[in-house]
Amino acid sequence: MARYIGPVCKLCRRENLKLFLKGDRCYTDKCSFDRRPYPPGQHGQRRIKFTEYGVRLREKQKVRRIYGVLERQFRKYFAEADRVKGVTGEQLLGLLERRLDSACYRIGFAATRSEARQLVRHKHVLVNGRIVNVPSYNVRLGDKITIAEGSRAHKRVVTALEGVDRRGVPQWLELDKGAFTATIKTAPNREEITLPIQEQLIVEFYSR
Ligand code: SF4
Repeated sequence: MARYIGPVCKLCRRENLKLFLKGDRCYTDKCSFDRRPYPPGQHGQRRIKFTEYGVRLREKQKVRRIYGVLERQFRKYFAEADRVKGVTGEQLLGLLERRLDSACYRIGFAATRSEARQLVRHKHVLVNGRIVNVPSYNVRLGDKITIAEGSRAHKRVVTALEGVDRRGVPQWLELDKGAFTATIKTAPNREEITLPIQEQLIVEFYSR
């Protein structure tokens, strides 16, 4: 599946929110959003008045960019969330959180979701003892996510795991740091998604 490979700091500036797409750099004074907190481009500093459609569009784009998912796949996630029982917006966020790359990021195996995606693609991640190199793989209750033995000394993994205490691991995941393993304990919890997301606006965007 294709992925976005353009400049990511511009995405934060466009969404007027720190999306934390660059790991540790986001917490330093090098953060582009902190330096230039307005949309990129020649007319970025002009005042923008969003229409109702624009507000909903921006919310959808924001979530897509947080999880690194392109439009076609995002639409499929929405269709799936709409099909199953429960609140559609919350189901959508749950599906996105349960992507293998996102789960690896949340566990702390990588500093960003894109780094986690690369870990998965390069076969450093096992699910229930088997290599899975599909970033969109949907993890399920009871699954064990492990870093392959030969990859445990990988500098990025070690550094990311060192930062786990600062970021914290959500309660739906149980991390055994020493064994480089995490277990899915429950379904992802909406309250533990701390970035300001109004998922209802996304539902309205696709229901128009
Ligand atoms: Fe966004 Fe700042 Fe991180 Fe760049 S450094 S991705 S602008 S939060």
